[in-house]
Amino acid sequence: MSLLEALEISGKRVFLRCDFNIPLKDGVITDDGRIRASLPTIKYLLDGGASLIIGAHLGRPKGEVKPELSLAPVAKRLAELLNLPVEFVGAVSGGEVSIKAQTLQSGQILLLENLRFSAAETSKDENERGAFAQQLADLVDAYVGDGFGAVHRKHASVFDLPQLLPHAPGYLVTAEVEVLKKLTQDPERPYGVVLGGAKVSDKIGVIANLLDKVDLLAIGGGMVFTFLAAQGKEVGSSLVETDLIATVKELIARAEINGVDLHLPTDIVVAPKFAADAPATLVNADAIPADQMGLDIGPASSADFAAAIATCKTVFWNGPMGVFEFPSFAAGTKVVAEALTKVSGISVVGGGDSAAAVRSMGFADSDFGYISTGGGAALEYLEGKELPGLSALGL
Ligand code: ADP
Ligand code: MG
Repeated sequence: MSLLEALEISGKRVFLRCDFNIPLKDGVITDDGRIRASLPTIKYLLDGGASLIIGAHLGRPKGEVKPELSLAPVAKRLAELLNLPVEFVGAVSGGEVSIKAQTLQSGQILLLENLRFSAAETSKDENERGAFAQQLADLVDAYVGDGFGAVHRKHASVFDLPQLLPHAPGYLVTAEVEVLKKLTQDPERPYGVVLGGAKVSDKIGVIANLLDKVDLLAIGGGMVFTFLAAQGKEVGSSLVETDLIATVKELIARAEINGVDLHLPTDIVVAPKFAADAPATLVNADAIPADQMGLDIGPASSADFAAAIATCKTVFWNGPMGVFEFPSFAAGTKVVAEALTKVSGISVVGGGDSAAAVRSMGFADSDFGYISTGGGAALEYLEGKELPGLSALGL
């Protein structure tokens, strides 16, 4: 019996923490993968006679009510996917929430507004978080944690709340942990990690820790320009984190010492501005014009990354290789995705934008070994860090 199945739910009000941090464009959900991933647990709980109060976050509203980050579109999509009514309450606490919670009947679902509209959700002050968690705990009898994408956060609904209630992990969190465990405990080698995406600062710790674990590291995306700058190359107006150049230099040196096969792009697709219609030009990685920015890795680099991936038995990929949202800068991401589909061992894609990218390019989830709903969470797990949202659930 799983931890979830051991939790008493019949006739109970259950707080379900989900990850509904989906990409939105002009109020329309562009990838509902994270909502779909929550369905098995929701169905299990409803079938078992529970009523659900679902809590989740969207984006980083920093404690303010930001209408463009409302979960209202998620309520609508969730209702469509379940073919059941989902009542949405446009608040995270207060009279309306309490009244609706009290009248909730077995089989019914109430979705709260974006929990991060309350500053207490993400507060560093334990007491402030604790008080908010207590308010949420007062609404329910039990807690199920299934928001994998947020388990690396010490937030009220992720870390403090489960400790106040009988709790269990949901099916998604359990499945995610099972897959990532395979990558951390004796992965079949060669083990390669491919990283891209926008921010080096988010991923620098990960790279440092992975240098002791992986055989191969390939880096693309916006974060690569800090690496190129660290090698003394001109990066034009590309995304670059100047204050991290020294750290990146050390990482490059450590990769060499550890015998990690580090792949950096040798050609770059540049453009004069960050726009879908900006004219794209291919240049060598050491010849980026001062007035241009790198928006994708070039074909020689993607071919090199693909060949490197083909030698691996275990591959984890997080972060698009370029600005895949603009078709002219999506090719690198597509080639890397394609290479992952051919890996003979385990291939895992992690991250909201990375998952959205492969789906928007027409790949099926089944083309990969596993698509993790968590980017940061998956990376921190692979680093071997203790994740607050997993510890709180006894995992
Ligand atoms: P994930 O959500 O998969 O963890 P990130 O959030 O770290 O990935 O990064 C995704 C974003 O990185 C995408 O929106 C993409 O447009 C952006 N990106 C990729 N390459 C570049 C680049 N060269 N310059 C600017 N942004 C980039
Ligand atoms: Mg992202």
